[in-house]
Amino acid sequence: MTAQPSPLRVVCARAAPAPLLQVDGVSLEYRTPERVVRATHQVSFDVHAADRFVLLGPSGCGKSTLLKAVAGFVAPCEGEIRIEGAPVSAPGPDRIVVFQEFDQLPPWKTVRQNVMFPLMQSRGMSRREASECALHFLDKVGLANFADAYPHTLSGGMKQRVAIARALAMRPKVLLMDEPFAALDALTRRRMQEELLALWHDAAFTLLFVTHSIEEALVVGSRILLLSPHPGRVRAELNSHQFDLASQGGAQFQATAQRIHHLLFDEAPHPAPSPARTAQAR
Ligand code: ADP
Ligand code: MG
Repeated sequence: MTAQPSPLRVVCARAAPAPLLQVDGVSLEYRTPERVVRATHQVSFDVHAADRFVLLGPSGCGKSTLLKAVAGFVAPCEGEIRIEGAPVSAPGPDRIVVFQEFDQLPPWKTVRQNVMFPLMQSRGMSRREASECALHFLDKVGLANFADAYPHTLSGGMKQRVAIARALAMRPKVLLMDEPFAALDALTRRRMQEELLALWHDAAFTLLFVTHSIEEALVVGSRILLLSPHPGRVRAELNSHQFDLASQGGAQFQATAQRIHHLLFDEAPHPAPSPARTAQAR
């Protein structure tokens, strides 16, 4: 008698995790009456569940435009963006953006109301459920005591924490962050990076994070996509989960930062390292 294929084996073969987010050959353009500006050219990358995926590149390389496209605000002129295999065609509560600007919180609502509002609007929660959920996430970002404060009474870092709590409370499939700490002073920025990583360990969300800072990319990211200057094309993709705030300044961290700098800014292919540089990198 011929042996039947094991159903278990069939299931296992299909169980390889599909990417949560696929950006597939995406070109993005702005059309004005005078001209067409190409922001990115045929960019592809995959983000898996629980990745901290960073888009890194110089100003003007199309990072914000890519994030807006993933959020569904801008449509690709070429290629496709998919969430769990389904093409992205519009904004949705499964993709929430945290911006750099401090004034992303309506000033007439308290901190708690700011977090509650989208939960009632988009997630259909009752006032009571939304209030409990808001307090839970405000507690996670250390702001439970400020739930009834108005945004103008908070520091820049605190406002950013409210925006993060509001985004996480929505339980998005992907949290999108566009240079969220760029306007903060160096100490606050470092603390916010630390808190974001702690939140990620706690809540294990999937993050797509934009920055032009090599150091921030290495600290925040588990994977980094390097984009060339305008229009953005993929230069390289690398792992960075081995780095955190504690490794900043160490020899391996600095060597990787230098390698990324060359990959981003060298016109010609990266030359073999000189003996002096190799010694420094070690
Ligand atoms: P980054 O976030 O990497 O700094 P952007 O995505 O903001 O880059 O911009 C990419 C390119 O698209 C830049 O050349 C920029 O000038 C251009 N651009 C951005 N927004 C607009 C717009 N609304 N209209 C026309 N061009 C734009
Ligand atoms: Mg930008």
